[in-house]
Amino acid sequence: MNCNEAVEKLWQYLDRELDGEAVVEVERHLQECRECFSRAEFEQRLRALLRRSCGCEQAPAALRDRLHRLLRMF
Ligand SMILES: [Zn+2]
Repeated sequence: MNCNEAVEKLWQYLDRELDGEAVVEVERHLQECRECFSRAEFEQRLRALLRRSCGCEQAPAALRDRLHRLLRMF
């Protein structure tokens, strides 16, 4: 798995929408790749923050889109 594939799957991974095999692949990439690991960390922290501040798991769609676009520029 390369970084593009990992990033594509990262959101689904964090939403727990991937099947077992894909989860293993993403986790393997995160262990090997600092860059993607940082992205995953950032997204997880963001979710924790949202959960605390508004009680919702998901950012509003517009905010989410903006953040995803921002993350892809890294
Ligand atoms: Zn990567």
